[in-house]
Amino acid sequence: MCGIIGYTGEEEAVELLLNGLKALEYRGYDSAGIALSKGSEIIVEKSQGKISQLERKIEGENKDLSSHCGIGHTRWATHGKPNDINSHPHATENLALVHNGIIENYAELKKFLEKNEHYTFESETDTEVAAKLIDCFYRVTRDPFRAIAEALKLLRGSWAFGVIFKDDPGVIYATRKDSPLICALDEKGNFIASDIPAVLKRTNRYYTLEEGEIALVCADKVKIFDMDKRPVKKEIKEADWDVEAAEKGNYPHFMLKEIFEQPTVIRKTVSPRVKDGLPQLGIPKLTDETLKRFKRLIIVGCGTAMHAGMVGKTVIEKLARIPVQVEIASEFRYSDPILEENDLIIVISQSGETADTLAALRLAKEKGCKTMAVVNVVGSSIAREADFVFYTWAGPEIAVASTKAYTVQICAMYLLTLRLCLIHNSLPLVQVKKLTEELLDKMPVLVQETIDRSGEIRKIANRFRSVEDLFFIGRGIDYSLSMEGSLKLKEISYVHSEAYAAGELKHGTISLITQGVPVISVATWDSCYEKMISNVKEVRARGASVIMLCKKGAAAADDVSDFIIDFPECSEMFMPMLAVPSMQLFAYHMAVFRGCDVDKPRNLAKSVTVE
Ligand code: GLU
Repeated sequence: MCGIIGYTGEEEAVELLLNGLKALEYRGYDSAGIALSKGSEIIVEKSQGKISQLERKIEGENKDLSSHCGIGHTRWATHGKPNDINSHPHATENLALVHNGIIENYAELKKFLEKNEHYTFESETDTEVAAKLIDCFYRVTRDPFRAIAEALKLLRGSWAFGVIFKDDPGVIYATRKDSPLICALDEKGNFIASDIPAVLKRTNRYYTLEEGEIALVCADKVKIFDMDKRPVKKEIKEADWDVEAAEKGNYPHFMLKEIFEQPTVIRKTVSPRVKDGLPQLGIPKLTDETLKRFKRLIIVGCGTAMHAGMVGKTVIEKLARIPVQVEIASEFRYSDPILEENDLIIVISQSGETADTLAALRLAKEKGCKTMAVVNVVGSSIAREADFVFYTWAGPEIAVASTKAYTVQICAMYLLTLRLCLIHNSLPLVQVKKLTEELLDKMPVLVQETIDRSGEIRKIANRFRSVEDLFFIGRGIDYSLSMEGSLKLKEISYVHSEAYAAGELKHGTISLITQGVPVISVATWDSCYEKMISNVKEVRARGASVIMLCKKGAAAADDVSDFIIDFPECSEMFMPMLAVPSMQLFAYHMAVFRGCDVDKPRNLAKSVTVE
């Protein structure tokens, strides 16, 4: 959430900052702003709304904004409405600051600062408190580094800060706690950024900042210190994402592009993990002996990642016969969970920065458990802190609604399941080989065939484009898929929808099924198929319009449904790889028909770095 960019170097900063913000807009789009060092002055331009609004404002003013150093921000409001005043950067007499995160003790600090004659507050944000607190220490020390270091000692909560000082033009100060921030290195200057796509057009070389470090980003060098100003030696990382991966190309939306990237990213994630036809997780330090020791797995995540964990639970329990619990990270972290030494806590997060998931990981470690991360971003906080890391190779996911990242998260679950089957001898070797081969060779082809039927799905979406309520039902794994389908629809098309365990409907919710209410029935799981048909008949008898997602040629499907989206034959455990992309496409087309901003749905942002 929230995008931060900063540049200092030989080029004009404004354009680089605005381009960086555009590349980060998926992280927040309530308002945007920039602050530029100009001689011994700082100029701030900010505006409510998207970056295009800020651009129009800047063009309209026709001011001289020539500068070689500045910081920028695109906001996802937590404290105070998205208006001009609450937008970042927040400036004081001496500095300007951008912030991602939440200052939890802002009220107490504000009271303290209000006693000081120099400070009155104009915004409703927690961020303004941080800016003024640093300013307060700067007035005493006249030393930017010490002012920041002293202020950090008093702050509670989460932050990534970029700060420029009037008296120190050309230098960006950066520091972070629980919110991501990198320092990226280019020949013609250096950057700070919340995420790699913001700088990818210029460079793929970067440092990740750790907590307790302060970076001084100058035009020709980046120096990183600990809080006592002792230099810290850091390793330069190289992102292997290419620029096209973070651009829309010929697609109208990132979401559609990312849906169509699924066959490619499945191959990228699975193929390096198959050796001699068998699954190899290839996770440093995670040997078969270690894996065998775990008697229970607890999968923790938020939203779509949690839904991927639910698929994991079903397949691991069914095939590897190990008990699995799935937990919502924001609940888990405050539930005082009972954890045992032989539990493996698996956290799933696309960004590797999800605040609640990171907290869950830390809690599990505190309680002495081993942790495994399934993440997409190399070097992210969760990746750095987990004992074992499984990287999903989805490349940058820009659309706020997660699609390809989910698919590779379930691939991670499949590979883990198959490896566990070998270790625990719960499936014959030939069977494990067959399934591994199917995942590697056959599934990307079948996923491609499924998404190529986007036109058919669009027609169904067109028929239902005006509905206000919709239900998804399923049993077993199909219930988990229904939850994901429903989430996707809600987040981007704003159609109210509910996912229900099909057998549970008659215990109350069936009262909402009336003439014409659409019900998407997910029925890919063989063992429950006949039961599903009965449940579909029940809703049909009450007037529902049924869209059936099932295997090609599934018995009675024609009789009970108005529309069918059917899938080619594959092993039951891989059906989610076909059903979910179909539901992603349904949500996508619904959103387009309804005129929604598909890639930037209201009230949401990518990478939820606040709790
Ligand atoms: N808490 C700050 C605000 O509401 C920063 C939010 C963000 O990360 O965008 O302004």
